[in-house]
Order: sequence, then structure tokens, then C-alpha cells
Amino acid sequence: MQQKFPINDTLKATLEQIKGRVQFDAPLGALTWFRVGGVAQVLIKPSDIEDLQYIQKVALDNNLPVTVLGVGSNVIVRDGGISGITIKLGGPSFTMVYQEGNAISAGGGALDRTVAETAREFGLSGLEFLVSIPGTIGGAVFMNAGAYDFETKDALVSVEGVTVEGNHVTLARQDCGFSYRSSRLPKGIIVTRALFEAPSGGLEEITLKMQGFLAKREATQPTRTRTGGSTFKNPPGELKAWQLIDQAGCRGMMIGGAQVSHMHCNFLLNTGGATAQDIEDLGELVRKKVYEKCGVQLEWEIKRLGVNRGEG
Ligand SMILES: Cc1cc2nc3c(=O)[nH]c(=O)nc-3n(C[C@H](O)[C@H](O)[C@H](O)COP(=O)(O)OP(=O)(O)OC[C@H]3O[C@@H](n4cnc5c(N)ncnc54)[C@H](O)[C@@H]3O)c2cc1C
Repeated sequence: MQQKFPINDTLKATLEQIKGRVQFDAPLGALTWFRVGGVAQVLIKPSDIEDLQYIQKVALDNNLPVTVLGVGSNVIVRDGGISGITIKLGGPSFTMVYQEGNAISAGGGALDRTVAETAREFGLSGLEFLVSIPGTIGGAVFMNAGAYDFETKDALVSVEGVTVEGNHVTLARQDCGFSYRSSRLPKGIIVTRALFEAPSGGLEEITLKMQGFLAKREATQPTRTRTGGSTFKNPPGELKAWQLIDQAGCRGMMIGGAQVSHMHCNFLLNTGGATAQDIEDLGELVRKKVYEKCGVQLEWEIKRLGVNRGEG
């Protein structure tokens, strides 16, 4: 990887002061659902908030960009990798989920599914939809993930995060600028925890709802493949993204090892040997064909991180 941000031995040693894990030139493909992409110049797994505050400050002082990865279920990491620091939240500080009266507190690295299951355990409702979203709470807040007429913002009370300056802050829901599959959190903030209100509900009703969502998902989406979920946001208007893609004749279309899913044509697949470039090129071809056929500019929902091969 071309080193756009040179990291000398002193800076390496400074980063290695944390309690968590620091790796250089760490492959990222295995950390994403698509299983593609280059290396992280530096991959850091902080062990707690203090580590994260330290990293943000070091990054700011040294002009290093910081990128956060959840479980990579809505990203394409490009083949040239990610320059600067990539953060992956793991460990108990960032994954713990617990009940607080009629609310659930969930770490930014906790799986959405675990949050839904914990809420059910305590007979709390309103978070059932999270069982079907294969990401983390940090990703759910950042993307305002949603399914079956629920969005992450609906039950959210507040969000904790560490800012680019290294401050540990709490934001009220109304300060997060939520809209469809999007938030306007302070630039560069890393979401470390979220508090959700969750009224009491019947255990059987909650369980049935969760089972229903999972069954529906299984029947309509390629959930057991290398994919990034919905590729494009649904545009305003009558037709959903998948309907426009279908009308434009893109179902099953391929570039290299990348394919538009036959089952749900707003999903792109890595059929085996795809590169990130194949997947992104296929997405762009779909956008072009939809525009030519339907006059609609599809907007990427998937976040494309890093640089193409050969780019610095
Ligand atoms: C099979 C499948 C089905 C899916 N179904 C749905 C669905 O029904 N509804 C839906 O909304 N999405 C769906 N998705 C997309 C995806 O699961 C969600 O967008 C999810 O919220 C992403 O979480 P993640 O942890 O994987 O984030 P990533 O994909 O790793 O990252 C997504 C973005 O969030 C940012 N981010 C991640 N963690 C943090 C953090 N702690 N702080 C700040 N920013 C952060 C990243 O930088 C990136 O920009 C699906 C994906 C797949 C593969």
C-alpha cells in the first residue's frame, strides 16, 4: 500500500501505548461481509474509552485520518486499503448490553441481534427489528438502520461517543440529525454506546415478532452470502430501488466475480473471486442503466471506504 500518511517509529510507539491491539498493514477483507478490500495502514482495537480518546488525540495531532468499521455489513473496503487509522470496537467495554429500567444500554460494538435478544430477555419491546439487521449498534446509529417500518432513531434516547478532539460526549437523539438511512453526527465521532427506550411487552408477542422478521428476511434476501445489504437507498417516489434495478434489466448482471442478486436485485454479491473494484464498478453500471431507463439517480447506501488499487 502506498503510504499516504507516513508513520515513523516514534509515531508507531506512541500508538502502541494503548492497552488495546495495534496492527500495521492489517488485511481488512475478512472483517467485511463482502470479503474484499485491501489493508488498513493501522488497525486498532481499543480496549476502552480511554484508549479511544488517546487514539483520537494522537490522530488529530498527527493529521491521521480515522475510519471506523463495525462488522462491515454495509461497506465496500476498496482494494487499495484504508490509509491512516482504522478502528474496530470489540471487547467488553464496547460490546456490553444491559437493562436500565425500561431502557437498554448497548455498546457501540454490540451486535444488533444481541440487543434485540437482551431486550426480549427482560420483556422489553420496540427493539425486535434489530434482530434482523446484521450490524453493530455503532453502525446502526450512524446509518440509522431500519427494517419493517422501524428505524434505529425511533427508540433512541441518547448516544455516547468520542469526538475527533478526544472528548467523551453524550448527544440527545435530536442532536443526531437522523433521516432515512443517514445521520448527521458530529464529523468523525465514534459511537461508543446508545441508550434505547423500551416499554414492557409480552414475552410471547416479542418472540413472535422477532421470529416473523427473521423468517421474512430469510425468504426475501440473500442473507447467507457475501453481500453488503441494500446497495442503494430507496429514492423518493413510488418505486423502490430494487424495482428500478429490475426494470433496467440488471437482475443477475455480472462484472468479474460480482453479481446483482437474482433473489433481491438491490443486493450485490461477491460470487467468489470478486474484487472491491468489480463490486463498485457493477454498482456504478447499475446506476447508469437505471438512470438511462428510468431517469432516476440512485444514491449509494453502502459506504465505500479507502482507495482503489494504485491510488495513494
Ligand atoms: C444481509 C444483510 C441485510 C441487511 N439488512 C439491512 C436492513 O434491513 N436495514 C438496514 O438498515 N441495513 C441493513 N443492512 C446493512 C447493515 O447491516 C446496516 O447498515 C448496519 O447498521 C451496518 O452496521 P455495521 O456495524 O456492519 O457497520 P459497517 O458496515 O461496518 O459501517 C457502516 C458505516 O457506519 C460507520 N460506523 C460503524 N460503526 C461506527 C461507530 N461505532 N461509530 C461511528 N460510525 C460507525 C462506518 O464508518 C461506515 O460508514 C443489511 C446488510 C446485510 C449484509
